[in-house]
Amino acid sequence: MREPLIATIGLGANLGDARQAVQDAMQAIATFEHCQLHAASPLYRSAPVDSSGPDYFNAVMQISTRLSAPDLLDRLHQLERGAGRERPYRNAPRTLDLDILLYGAARIDSPRLSVPHPRMRQRAFVLRPLADIAPALVSAQELQAVADQAIEKVCIW
Ligand code: AMP
Repeated sequence: MREPLIATIGLGANLGDARQAVQDAMQAIATFEHCQLHAASPLYRSAPVDSSGPDYFNAVMQISTRLSAPDLLDRLHQLERGAGRERPYRNAPRTLDLDILLYGAARIDSPRLSVPHPRMRQRAFVLRPLADIAPALVSAQELQAVADQAIEKVCIW
């Protein structure tokens, strides 16, 4: 069986009970088979970036996993579908959005999967929670570069 590595996952939602959706997804991911929770960020609330509708709830988590990246993505998509996710158009508001931000140190460039996530370093809703749980992965300059994006820490769960 493959060696476990740390996968970093971004969670976001801005439709329906978005806060609950993020919380439920985090719990579900932590109990995926071949996965263990490594770290969970506080919950954040952010204004939509490249999207529309109500504010988002966001968090970032790290799991230790033996799943391959495509298998992990399949399971995340199952959760998105279970939360009623629809994709009427690009960057539409969503009941649940789950992204693989990092998969160990892997670089993946396939039709289904780009890792590290290509836009993660431009988004405060990724960098702020990521800095909480893995400060070595985010520089002060990167945080400064997204300081104009509206975001606030809501709770530590
Ligand atoms: P979205 O509508 O933002 O949830 O984008 C979903 C699509 O992005 C899926 O069809 C994925 O195959 C693709 N994708 C590419 N890279 C990633 C990634 N690192 N994490 C999640 N989805 C990804």
